[in-house]
Amino acid sequence: MKALGEIADKYEEIKDSVPDHVELVPATKGRSADEVREVVDAGADAIGENYTHPEAVRKHGELGEDAGEIRWELIGHLQKNDINKALPIFDRVQTVESLSKAEHIDKRVERAGKEVMPILVEINSGNEESKYGLRPEKDALDEIIRGISGLEHLRLDGLMTMGPFTGNPEDARPYFEVTRKLYDYGKNLVEGKDRMEVLSMGMTNSYRVAIEEGANMIRVGTAIFGPRN
Ligand SMILES: *Cc1c(COP(=O)(O)O)cnc(C)c1O
Repeated sequence: MKALGEIADKYEEIKDSVPDHVELVPATKGRSADEVREVVDAGADAIGENYTHPEAVRKHGELGEDAGEIRWELIGHLQKNDINKALPIFDRVQTVESLSKAEHIDKRVERAGKEVMPILVEINSGNEESKYGLRPEKDALDEIIRGISGLEHLRLDGLMTMGPFTGNPEDARPYFEVTRKLYDYGKNLVEGKDRMEVLSMGMTNSYRVAIEEGANMIRVGTAIFGPRN
């Protein structure tokens, strides 16, 4: 864990180094409620959590009233079994990978006391068998956008991708590019309640390249909080 003040310094340094239209979302998996408080005090409006249960549920409780001051973004895979626990605490689910998952969420939104759950569709931009996400093809995007348009308790906000893990950020560029092309394509398909205005891509080692390729939301953990245990 970093010394007090260091997290805020790092957050501000990165925030100041990226264009104004790019939202910096601290990725807070494995970080304590106190670490979250520090980054929020430094100006973060949102945090990204990976594990609904038990980590995010526990942290949400530990933060008490402060939890309501920030937007909770689910950036890790959502298991069907965790949907009922996730919906009350998260303000957006970034990892919807299929229409079937979208339908499962849609059915449970009202029960969680909400009218609408904003979502991003996760693109498996490397088309990797080991990864979650939608096949990175226009026809697949077409189909899921049409399907989501009929789900009244979901609002599509945009796309998210991880891309393959590599040491060299340049290696990630083609995957960000593929995702941005799908994002541009999707803009012409969305209508009504749905929109295409969030493109969430880029992490500690790749966010600069992601921004060059069009990201307007980056999810950064290590560069703000230090190495994870
Ligand atoms: C952990 C994580 C991040 C941040 O990763 P860092 O390399 O620590 O910046 C971003 N997105 C997702 C989905 C993550 O799980």
